[in-house]
Amino acid sequence: MPQGRILLKSISTSKKLPLLGTDGARLLYTWLIPHVDVNGCFSGDPEIVKGKVFTKLRKSTKSVGGYLQNLADIGLIILYEADGENYLHIPDFVDKQPSLNPDREAKTTIPMPTQDQLQTKSGLYPLKVKESKVKLSKDKYGEFVLLSKDQYQELVKKLTKPVVDQLIVDLNLGIGTHGYKYKSHYHVIQTWHRKNLKSKGGSAVPQEKLATPICLVCKATGRWYKTDRQGKPVYLCPTCAKALATVGITNWGYMKKSSIEKSVECGKAMLATRSTPAEPTHEASVNDKRNAAAKLIAETTKNFGKV
Ligand SMILES: [Zn+2]
Repeated sequence: MPQGRILLKSISTSKKLPLLGTDGARLLYTWLIPHVDVNGCFSGDPEIVKGKVFTKLRKSTKSVGGYLQNLADIGLIILYEADGENYLHIPDFVDKQPSLNPDREAKTTIPMPTQDQLQTKSGLYPLKVKESKVKLSKDKYGEFVLLSKDQYQELVKKLTKPVVDQLIVDLNLGIGTHGYKYKSHYHVIQTWHRKNLKSKGGSAVPQEKLATPICLVCKATGRWYKTDRQGKPVYLCPTCAKALATVGITNWGYMKKSSIEKSVECGKAMLATRSTPAEPTHEASVNDKRNAAAKLIAETTKNFGKV
């Protein structure tokens, strides 16, 4: 095993490290790098990590276990089990060690994580996770955020309802857009809140962030969102989203507001003709509506190229 490893400059601009809850977790990540084997693997046992990496620091095993879990939540390490032992693996380790020379490395005794373990990023404490799943029945907030009723109430008590609801919207957006994976949404929401406070110099979340999302077209309560080219959320109410789906549009985040409005109008017209029974006496008016819808579709699709 060589004396050390390379720590790339790009660590300062890493997008994942700022997401960690504590500087302790950040320190552990950087101090872990010189200890891992040629494959980027090391013991995942908090007791061993504490002894070998944080040898002279007065950190409790519990804290180290928390840091490891946090690193795994963000995806910086993968915690896995093999032959009844806990291990960790740094997924991008080999990429970040350009001068890795397997001939100079001691033969490793740590088995690599299996393909399944790499993909599911399964945690160190699978039993604990299972247990908590059984204990807490969680409700879905938005499309992805899972919280138990108690956790939601607890967050509202700590952070106030508008702040919690906005953070849930943000978290849904993060998971939906980037596929973020977290063990505990309850804890992530609190971490994000603390980071918001820090970046605002200690002030509360700005007023405009507290607003309930509203539909871009009709100003009803927004329920569905996409991100626009700038990464900002664009909300639609279920009615308008359905109208868009009717004309075959699902990727409205990138569309101009005027195009979205036209397409919604068009979709609503189509829905209306569908639900109107074609009475023989009103055939002309039904045909008028159909023609109007067809015209709108033609116009809207013509404009797609300019979106
Ligand atoms: Zn609407």
